Amino acid sequence: MTDKVCEFLKGDEVKKFVDSMETFIFDCDGVLWNGIGVIDGAVEVLHELRKLGKRVFFVTNNSSKSREDYAKKFENFGIKVSKDEIYGTSYAVAYYLKEILKFDKKVFTIGTTGMIQELDELGIPHTGSGPDLSTGGYNIKEWTNLPLDPEVGAVVCGFDEHFSYHKLIKAASYLAKDTCLFIATNCDDRFPFNSTDIVIPGTGCLVISVEAAARRKAKVVGKPERIMFDCINSRHNIDPSKACMIGDRLNTDILFGNNCGLKTILVLTGISSLEDVKLCQDSNDAHNRDCIPDFYISSIDALRLPLNP
Ligand code: PLP
Ligand code: CA
Repeated sequence: MTDKVCEFLKGDEVKKFVDSMETFIFDCDGVLWNGIGVIDGAVEVLHELRKLGKRVFFVTNNSSKSREDYAKKFENFGIKVSKDEIYGTSYAVAYYLKEILKFDKKVFTIGTTGMIQELDELGIPHTGSGPDLSTGGYNIKEWTNLPLDPEVGAVVCGFDEHFSYHKLIKAASYLAKDTCLFIATNCDDRFPFNSTDIVIPGTGCLVISVEAAARRKAKVVGKPERIMFDCINSRHNIDPSKACMIGDRLNTDILFGNNCGLKTILVLTGISSLEDVKLCQDSNDAHNRDCIPDFYISSIDALRLPLNP
């Protein structure tokens, strides 16, 4: 149980809040866009915050795209965003390996072309991308003779539409060596997708498979871990007391913001609801209580009106 209140921000309070902030960090899916398209008011709010001289950054757990891909996506919505304002988990993996760990070996990737692009850009050699060449069937001979690259020193697991049994064998075999690093982009269990008929498993399901096969836990670079914030902060010197995180998911975005000492705002256009906030408030679990946002608003559009009195 906790006394932390998740306040509804409205009218003048939004204006006061915006005035008191220098930096706005936005989650992407569920806040700026969803499966259908851009969320009402998102483009206008971003333009208006910039006009007010506020700094805006974007952090997404989606590893399927590179920063360049995201810049194009923003441009299609009519917003010019530089690569230095966008932080996706494929970039976070490359940054973490290169800048934090000073990694100098090869990476075995479970990932998309977006991840490959980010690794290439930071000069990190890699192997394993794309569909594998399985001949199919129950084939122990083939499995036990899969070629392993002796230069691999890390396994990275992100979203991969070509995830396969062969890739699982290879990842677990590389990870059998204690010296091989194990990094995951994020643990989101499902795609944010509204359907009663179909469930689309998220990257977390791939990560759990590799963890089970390898009997090891991955180091996660995505939200709620603070690596992407540390990366932004190392370049832009952010005062956390004047920065806020706006997200739709309590156990990634809001926990991330709280972990980084930021003010946190939940929008109700994505995964988490006010009922979920109530469950966290009623919980005895410290982890759940760390997921309570400071504020909530119905959608990003609510940030707009007070900016244009
Ligand atoms: N991972 C994948 C593969 C996704 O497609 C998405 C959303 O579409 C996410 C993670 C969550 O992204 P975000 O952190 O922007 O909500
Ligand atoms: Ca989201």
